[in-house]
Amino acid sequence: MFKITIYGVHSNEVNYFKRLNKYNYKLNLISALLTHENIETAKGSDAVLLRANCIADEQNLLKLNKWGIKYVFTRTVGIDHIDLETATKLNLKVARVPAYSPYAVAELAITLGMMLFRHTATVTNNTHIGNFAISPENFSKEINSSVIGIIGTGKIGITEASLYKGMGAKVLGYDPYPTAKASQYVDFVTQDELLSKADIVSLHVPYFPGQNDNLVNSEFLEKMKSDSFLVNTARGELVDNIALIQALREEKLAGFATDVFRDEGKLLGRIFKKNLPDPTLEELRELYPKVLITPHIGSYTSPALMDMVKISYDNFHQVLTEGYTDNDVKLPSVLL
Ligand code: NAD
Repeated sequence: MFKITIYGVHSNEVNYFKRLNKYNYKLNLISALLTHENIETAKGSDAVLLRANCIADEQNLLKLNKWGIKYVFTRTVGIDHIDLETATKLNLKVARVPAYSPYAVAELAITLGMMLFRHTATVTNNTHIGNFAISPENFSKEINSSVIGIIGTGKIGITEASLYKGMGAKVLGYDPYPTAKASQYVDFVTQDELLSKADIVSLHVPYFPGQNDNLVNSEFLEKMKSDSFLVNTARGELVDNIALIQALREEKLAGFATDVFRDEGKLLGRIFKKNLPDPTLEELRELYPKVLITPHIGSYTSPALMDMVKISYDNFHQVLTEGYTDNDVKLPSVLL
């Protein structure tokens, strides 16, 4: 029986992996992410199935290969946790889940945007400590007469745009590759126009290392309205935290929410009694409730999980029956 060791399985996810196991794989479900320390747990398996922040670097891939494990699959869209160069040299097969419910991330982005917009974190925090006073800072606009700016109108961006449009907002979009599908939900404008008009700006741009690091820098922030909010559920590397802190402190931006960080491996799954390892993130944390932080839970919903599990199991089935998957991940040919 084909045995898969699956890492990063939360206790509430176990039943999904078992219930959706229509090909009757032998499952070894591990709650921890794959690390250098726990790699031995993969021994005796035919394959591993990873999630974001699992370590699949040269050291771990060499061990998996030595133990005869030829399939290093991930149930994520992103593959930046897998050393593709080493995987290619070792002839390991890598596959991913190219898409799952876009509502998972889009609904979180809306929730964070609305929390900032209606100051709900501030006021619920106040009432929690017995403060029922209403201050002028709690005064709000309404979404149905506001402007939303979606940067990156791909799967998640379009979904968020459709939800905001359903709430009556005017939705502007910026994307270097505008599509007819997205035009149903956004009016395409330049990035500068979007920044100058939007009350909430939401980022849905993939991170390309070395190409769009710090897309949100002081120049970008300078173009936003001083009473507007920024939401990042895409990737931490897209935002220059130092410029962001300055904009928030100088009241050039009204608030910020993020689900994503640089160096997530140092943060996720851990509990910090003192300061966070990244001093800029620590400074942002201190700006709560002007700054809202969630621990990369954008895809943590049951429909998204079901998609990830089903597609991963299908990937294994296809590779075992046909020798390849439609979702194979290959090193770009220029690097071969
Ligand atoms: P997608 O590939 O469908 O869409 C991305 C869009 O961004 C494309 O239309 C592309 O043309 C556009 N784009 C690229 N560079 C741009 C730029 N500089 N300015 C404006 N637009 C630009 O991707 P998706 O499925 O919508 O996901 C978007 C991102 O969300 C992912 O790349 C990932 O980083 C992030 N994500 C986060 C979570 C989470 O849990 N928070 C989960 C899944 C994905």
